[in-house]
Amino acid sequence: MTTPPPAARLPQIAVGCPRCGAAAGALCTSHGGARVRRNDTHVGRRAAWVAAGRPDTSSPGRSAAAAFEKGR
Ligand SMILES: [Zn+2]
Repeated sequence: MTTPPPAARLPQIAVGCPRCGAAAGALCTSHGGARVRRNDTHVGRRAAWVAAGRPDTSSPGRSAAAAFEKGR
């Protein structure tokens, strides 16, 4: 049985990472994608998550930012 990496539980995983280009829901990578950051993400990703309106990880594909834009 595989244990999910701690970083997968971080809220900022809901958005893509502007630093390493990781897709939403994917872990950050370092060294040109050669190494997965299992325990944390880039600091910029956290900032991007806050800027996106702190979308909830429990609703993948439905970011709060998109909902906000739609319901405007
Ligand atoms: Zn990253």
